[in-house]
Amino acid sequence: MKSSQILIFTDLDGSLLNHNNFEFREIKDFILNCIKNGIKIIPNTSKTKSEIQVFLDQLGHNLPFVVENGAAVHNLDLVHTNFKFKNNSLVFSRSVSEILTLFEKSIPVEFQKRCLFLKDMSSIEQTKILGLNKKYLPFALNRDYSMPLVFDGSKELVNEFTVLLKKIGMKLHEGGRIYNICDDCSKGKAMTTLIEKLKNEFNFNTHTIVIGDSPNDISMLNLSDQPCIIPLPNKKNLCYLNDKKIIRATQSAPQGWEEVVRASLKKINFQLQG
Ligand SMILES: [Mg+2]
Repeated sequence: MKSSQILIFTDLDGSLLNHNNFEFREIKDFILNCIKNGIKIIPNTSKTKSEIQVFLDQLGHNLPFVVENGAAVHNLDLVHTNFKFKNNSLVFSRSVSEILTLFEKSIPVEFQKRCLFLKDMSSIEQTKILGLNKKYLPFALNRDYSMPLVFDGSKELVNEFTVLLKKIGMKLHEGGRIYNICDDCSKGKAMTTLIEKLKNEFNFNTHTIVIGDSPNDISMLNLSDQPCIIPLPNKKNLCYLNDKKIIRATQSAPQGWEEVVRASLKKINFQLQG
């Protein structure tokens, strides 16, 4: 298999970045070596464009990436040099103001009251919930396509709320720390669109490795050739997924990320050089 055909779609928080301190220093050289070997790494995350930019600056390498749970893909020319799109991006979502208007108009008030939006909280609360350094808060809150919140209610009420959102064409995504109200997008849909375009427009066949840790990663894990799950420290995650293909890391992020990539490449006899 040619290295250019391997695509790694990866969640960031808890999958590539350490769940507690968002560090990835230990595997930075390994990531850069994968890229050097022609493997395309595509972050596919609930993070915003500006948050991903912070990650790319730390990595010191530009990558294509999917923002806000499948809402848009940026840097498409890095997926394929012949991809020509306006702003080098594809957008699959309505804007956050359109989503908010629809939410206020169509969701019953008793459910609206249970949604504690991060945008309405103090910076101390925001910092605590997101576990972020204050410096990075503005990047996390500068959202184009989704509204992060804490839901005040039982799991049953969350399920009811999910159904209500679905009726108006929206979704509730569960991340490692918070919920997000989004348009009818998913990490999996964005990934599939890219793969189909590569196949149909350039006859470019792919082998996809997907790495995730949370329910909002299931849509892309299910669509991958090689699903990989990273354990969260002190929390059981995605234990109910039992596809035999799944590779589960024994270590949490970032080391677990390197572990599953090495195991995935070994399975297809791909030798990393350097
Ligand atoms: Mg995650």
